[in-house]
Amino acid sequence: MGKIIAIANQKGGVGKTTTAMNLAASLAVLEFKTLVIDADPQANTTSGLGHDPKSINTSIYECMVDEIDINEIILKTELEYLDLVPSHIDLVGAEVEMINLDNREEKMKGVISDLRDKYDFIVIDCSPSLGLITINALTAANSVIIPVQCEYFALEGLGKLLNTIKIIQTRLNPDLEIEGILLTMYDVRLRLSNQVVEEVRLHFKNMVFETIIPRNVRLSEAPSFGLPAIAFDADGKGAIAYLNLASEIAQKNGLQKVNS
Ligand code: ADP
Ligand code: MG
Repeated sequence: MGKIIAIANQKGGVGKTTTAMNLAASLAVLEFKTLVIDADPQANTTSGLGHDPKSINTSIYECMVDEIDINEIILKTELEYLDLVPSHIDLVGAEVEMINLDNREEKMKGVISDLRDKYDFIVIDCSPSLGLITINALTAANSVIIPVQCEYFALEGLGKLLNTIKIIQTRLNPDLEIEGILLTMYDVRLRLSNQVVEEVRLHFKNMVFETIIPRNVRLSEAPSFGLPAIAFDADGKGAIAYLNLASEIAQKNGLQKVNS
């Protein structure tokens, strides 16, 4: 049975999409069959993996609302072991449509549960909100990764997110675990970056991943080529950090990676 990991933080620009794309790609490079689901109407994961959101008209939302079979909309990527459920920009109104549905928080869970037989990992890129789609993702997931940017106000909003996770654990998904807090955009030269690492580690201790993602320009350039960093700049610091994260997660879950 595959593991479903949501990447969530209602704060924008903290590295959710970069993490979803590059973690999923790294798991795929380790030969874990991996699916990344773009659950953000901004569709950055979709374009970052080489598919034009303008050419997409069916996303996870239609599967949730119109009961379309998700297997019909899965796309291939440049990497053999990595597939994508795309998103597109037109459906920002999906949450409104969902309000009147029964079990509206559990739609995504129903849509993706069968896919656990086909994939080792399913990674969900959430939008910067704690709206219904994100709640659906957290209800469907086995665990959540929380990216935290090594910047001013790093911890801002984290309390609210952790509280939402608690509510979901109580009411909708008692088995939801925190896979880890991931420090992103770390700059070794900046005192602030180092202070954030210290502060987050002090507060959250072993909830924080050992792997830290450095600020690395290749990570921000790769999406414009429609590629994850590992297929664009495999020896770069960013690509290597995400590969380390994938290994850390595989190990934590008792899975053997290739070539180790
Ligand atoms: P989110 O999905 O949380 O809004 P993104 O992953 O889209 O965040 O990141 C926000 C911006 O920062 C993007 O332009 C992205 O390319 C850039 N970025 C993310 N992580 C890094 C990193 N480690 N180094 C450099 N740029 C990064
Ligand atoms: Mg994003």
